[in-house]
Amino acid sequence: MSDLTKLTIAEARDALRKGEVTSVALTEACLAEIEGAGALGAFVHGTPEIALARAEAADARLKAGDAPAMCGIPIGIKDLFCTEGVPSQAASKILEGFRPEYESTVSAQLRDAGAVMLGKLNMDEFAMGSSNETSIYGNAVNPWRAGNSEAALTPGGSSGGSAAAVAADLCLAATGTDTGGSIRQPAAFTGIVGLKPTYGRCSRWGIVAFASSLDQAGPMTKTVRDAAIMGAAMMGHDPKDSTSADLPVPDFEAMLTGDIRGKVIGIPKEYRMDGMPGEIETLWTEGAGMLRDAGAELRDISLPHTKYALPAYYVIAPAEASSNLARYDGVRFGYRAKLAQGDGVTEMYEKTRAEGFGPEVRRRIMIGTYVLSAGFYDAYYNRARKVRALIKRDFDEVFAAGVDAILTPATPSAAFELGKAHTDPVEMYLNDVFTVTVNLAGLPGVAVPTGLDGRGLPLGLQLIGRPWEEGELLNAAYALERAAGFVAKPAKWW
Ligand code: GLN
Repeated sequence: MSDLTKLTIAEARDALRKGEVTSVALTEACLAEIEGAGALGAFVHGTPEIALARAEAADARLKAGDAPAMCGIPIGIKDLFCTEGVPSQAASKILEGFRPEYESTVSAQLRDAGAVMLGKLNMDEFAMGSSNETSIYGNAVNPWRAGNSEAALTPGGSSGGSAAAVAADLCLAATGTDTGGSIRQPAAFTGIVGLKPTYGRCSRWGIVAFASSLDQAGPMTKTVRDAAIMGAAMMGHDPKDSTSADLPVPDFEAMLTGDIRGKVIGIPKEYRMDGMPGEIETLWTEGAGMLRDAGAELRDISLPHTKYALPAYYVIAPAEASSNLARYDGVRFGYRAKLAQGDGVTEMYEKTRAEGFGPEVRRRIMIGTYVLSAGFYDAYYNRARKVRALIKRDFDEVFAAGVDAILTPATPSAAFELGKAHTDPVEMYLNDVFTVTVNLAGLPGVAVPTGLDGRGLPLGLQLIGRPWEEGELLNAAYALERAAGFVAKPAKWW
């Protein structure tokens, strides 16, 4: 078999089960691709020995006929997941040298299902960012380029390394996390599929916390079918996470019929933003047309509080982050600053935190501390929480009125150039305008590659579903994927 790394999970699974390929061969092929792809900055800690040992174990399981769907599949793990004995730094200096003694529940479930970890993937520091530029490891780079330009583009963020690695066929799939769009935006920027499950579907245990009421892990894959397969392997109840839902995880793959006849797809007017490129508007209309042609009914809907979502997110997420990141004090994890004669514990905290956190993380801690402070708590934090409840109610009402899924653009632009503009953090925050509502309301959302812009860069659409109905959502995404027929791949330059 040639081009092993280009296989989807479903194709590899079938070939493994038929004995047409071994997990060791797949894994070696991926390791060779990773070796040659340093220019993408996607993998930041390789784990080839672990990978080959797991691949051998997977081959033994396959031979014995005990082969869950992920058995033998080589994947990458975002650096936000704690992986036993393997550097897990959340792309931050403050976690330098940290090797957890435990494995996150999600990566443990994947490991126990036989998946093969190739290494850890680049990301924005503590998952704060939309371009992967806040990483201590340096940028991850998008394998796609615009036309004949050689300018390096962002793969998006914060799961930029995951997106770049999957799009460049360095691995068959990767884990991501999404607090405000970090799975869906990079997926859209790199022409892959990214699923953010309903809040509570995947355990947060062992994933470095950013904003605990918003954080959710999910799969980043080449196809919707793969998102169904890998998503199911990542989900499930975990008593170690009190917000994890005690609900059965259906066989999502079996639900992919592509039949969406009679389903109602909502088109929210508030997502038609001023200044959005015409190509995205067109793609959105075309995507809606594809769903209608597949038998769905389109319905214009209103989500009136959408315009408050970004400001509310950028109060709530930093507030939770400032509290979560208080634990990095130079005592318990990773980095500790060099101290001067006479420095006490206060200087140790101050110097460690000043040196260990990058500028964006420091900004969020300061904003978060400010909005939670006694004098401003009601004016900012409590008000943002009220707005959040209204945003959730908008969705509840639309779903109660019979809408099955909502179609929106995934991002307000295609991938942009690395290192350009974006000196203004607010400009960067605008990337999340279509995705943060979904986290605030705790809903499942999926980005599906739907077309290319005039410069040949991928564009994605987002489908938003009812809570716990990832199966229905993925089926709608599958219908869209089939109709869009997106098969483009980036030309290899790395
Ligand atoms: N870009 C958003 C932020 O910077 C979302 C990040 C995420 O989903 N982890 O907060």
